[in-house]
Amino acid sequence: MKPEAGSQRPEDGRRSAASVVPASVLRPPSSGFADLHLHTIFSDGTYTPEELTGRAQQLGFAALALTDHDTVEGCARMSAACQQAGLEFIPATELTAEFDDNELHLLGYFVDTQNPRLLAEMAKFQKVRQERIHEMVARLNQLDIPLQADAVFAIANCRSPGRPHVGRALVAGGFCSGLDEAFERFLKKNRPAWVPKFKISALDAIGLIHQAGGLAAMAHPGLNRTDKIIPALASAGLDGLECFHTKHTPAASERYVRMAKEFNLAITGGSDCHGLSKGKPLIGTVKLPYEYVEKLKSKAANRKSVEPLNR
Ligand code: AMP
Ligand code: ZN
Ligand code: FE
Ligand code: FE
Repeated sequence: MKPEAGSQRPEDGRRSAASVVPASVLRPPSSGFADLHLHTIFSDGTYTPEELTGRAQQLGFAALALTDHDTVEGCARMSAACQQAGLEFIPATELTAEFDDNELHLLGYFVDTQNPRLLAEMAKFQKVRQERIHEMVARLNQLDIPLQADAVFAIANCRSPGRPHVGRALVAGGFCSGLDEAFERFLKKNRPAWVPKFKISALDAIGLIHQAGGLAAMAHPGLNRTDKIIPALASAGLDGLECFHTKHTPAASERYVRMAKEFNLAITGGSDCHGLSKGKPLIGTVKLPYEYVEKLKSKAANRKSVEPLNR
């Protein structure tokens, strides 16, 4: 398993700076810190919204965004849990997109979770995800692994199943010793059970997020190696850049902060916590100073004031 970045978890996070945010880019937080990249059982995380919110509260977070893959279904429960815990909540989602043959992930912040077009498009992505599970299982069966699609769907128990659920089913069925082995042997890109995922064009995804009243931020550019497309996407309406992410080194985060400033993109950050699916939960490894949430909110408010929602 890959080591967690920023594992020097502070005792009292509220007083400490972001553990993976280099000091050179920090100013004193106006109020606490945020995690703007989180997954729950509504996609491939293992925590319920309530469990995730509870952990965030223990860690001293002031604001959270839920970014489940291709769904906003968990947002209502997460919002209620955050309200009860006294945390600010930002509804969001994470879409898989492509631009010039590059895969990228787009985070849609402040989207209207009832927006009909967004919901209709995400329902299509979910259907493709479900079909993809059958294809991956068929490939495994060809490799004489007698996994059943129903076993994957039982574990996933959500509309947005993905490779981690296939991996968990392989482990539960005794076919692999752990998720890492499942990805290494079968599920990683170009491994025998890998099936490419449908990707919306990045420009369409940005448009979809905007018409739902949201802001589009490029997730983990360091993980997807998408630095070179940042300028073009910034010109095409991208609003933010996830500068701080568990898998970004401090040097990478500093580079992305510079790029965000150069291209007038909001600075975002989050742990990309998937709960216990990869061992230790990642929540707490990225602590975005709250001032960046304030900037993101004012950018969202400006966008709404200049571009009324097009339903
Ligand atoms: P999918 O959306 O179905 O293609 O699955 C992508 C998800 O799989 C990511 O969000 C990660 O959570 C997870 N993932 C990708 N690569 C690995 C890996 N090598 N080991 C464990 N999980 C992974
Ligand atoms: Zn995921
Ligand atoms: Fe992602
Ligand atoms: Fe993610």
